[in-house]
Amino acid sequence: MNQERLRQLLHEQNFRLTRERQSLLELFVQSERMLTPAQLHEWAQEHGARVGLTTVYRLLEVLTKVGAAMPFLVDGNVYYAFCSDGHHHHFVCLSCHRVHEIRECPSFLHVPREFQVESHRADLFGTCPHCQSTTPDAAGTGVAP
Ligand SMILES: [Zn+2]
Ligand SMILES: [Zn+2]
Ligand SMILES: [Zn+2]
Repeated sequence: MNQERLRQLLHEQNFRLTRERQSLLELFVQSERMLTPAQLHEWAQEHGARVGLTTVYRLLEVLTKVGAAMPFLVDGNVYYAFCSDGHHHHFVCLSCHRVHEIRECPSFLHVPREFQVESHRADLFGTCPHCQSTTPDAAGTGVAP
C-alpha cells in the first residue's frame, strides 16, 4: 500500500496524519516486527516523536481496521505488526519478534464439505533463522567428545 493510499484510508477513519503521527507510522512500518502499543510508544519517544500513548493505540486500531496492521496475541499480550498489501500469512519469531510475510497459502484438506469457507487465516510462530544461529544451544551441539 503506498503512502498516499494509506494516508487517504486513515483520513477516512478521521485519523489525520500530522508530522508527529507520520513519523510514528514510519517507525512502525520500518520496525518489521510486532510491538505492543507501549513498546511502540517507548520507541517513538526514543526517536523524538512526541505522541501520546492514546495516539499510538488509535493509530494501531485504525491501521488494523483498514487492513494495514495485524494483531497477535502472544503470552497474553497484544502485539501489532504492519501488513503490506495483498493476501498473506505470517511467520512470527518468538525470540526477536520479527514478522515475516508468507505469500503461500496452506491447504486445508480436512474441512468437511458442508462448511462453506469464505476466507482463512493462518499464522506461524517459532524461531527465525537468525535467532536459531545465535542460540547457545546451536553452538554447543555437534561437539565431538
Ligand atoms: Zn501481514
Ligand atoms: Zn528471530
Ligand atoms: Zn492464504
